[in-house]
Amino acid sequence: MSQSTPDHIPVIAVDGPGGSGKGTITTRLAEHLGWHFLDSGALYRLTALAVMKHKVSLDDAAALGEIAANLDIHFETHDGTVKAVLEGVDVTPQLRLEKTGVVASRIAAIPAVRAALAERQRRFRQAPGLVADGRDMGTVIFPDAKLKIFLTASAQIRAERRYKQLKDKGESVNLTRLFKEIKARDLRDQSRNVAPLRPAEDAVIIDSTDLNIEEVFEKVLSLL
Ligand code: C5P
Repeated sequence: MSQSTPDHIPVIAVDGPGGSGKGTITTRLAEHLGWHFLDSGALYRLTALAVMKHKVSLDDAAALGEIAANLDIHFETHDGTVKAVLEGVDVTPQLRLEKTGVVASRIAAIPAVRAALAERQRRFRQAPGLVADGRDMGTVIFPDAKLKIFLTASAQIRAERRYKQLKDKGESVNLTRLFKEIKARDLRDQSRNVAPLRPAEDAVIIDSTDLNIEEVFEKVLSLL
């Protein structure tokens, strides 16, 4: 991947809380347009896995920043499925675990971690265009994005969707606990000092509580 991030390459930024359907919508949109795709949450999750692997304390901001700055990761695509590789090891099965998400959300509040990952994220801006999925794509990483969408849904419905997703993957989950974790993660993401989760001023807000994926996708296409 080249280091250049030319400003003329169009970006569609899709932000919002976990379980809002962002992942599905952005993957489909990138495929539909033939554009590159950035799953910024995966970068935070990979950092979290590196932090756990190296047993770094979540209170040691300097060490966490170092880990993020020196992250040895890459993505491999095989037969249409993407593998996440950390220090030469395929960590795809650990990436979506709830525990990984919780640690990701804790380290995401640390300015040095965000700063280290910001540049890495901007390098995904490659021709012909980029669909970027995250929490601060439209507010911080790509403020000049051509289209900004803030996709949200009630915490209850997001917990139910996450429950189904994790259950389908064979993870043992409890809906009440998941709901509490989602609320706690929302609060942490919204109240942190750096890049808190919030819609950009020029974002279009889509509430997917009563919409299925098809309906959301149609809405997004109509905005293009
Ligand atoms: O979207 P996902 O659940 O994979 O993200 C995991 C965590 O990473 C989020 O809860 C959030 O704290 C953090 N994150 C972030 N900024 C992003 C993407 C993810 O702070 N752009």
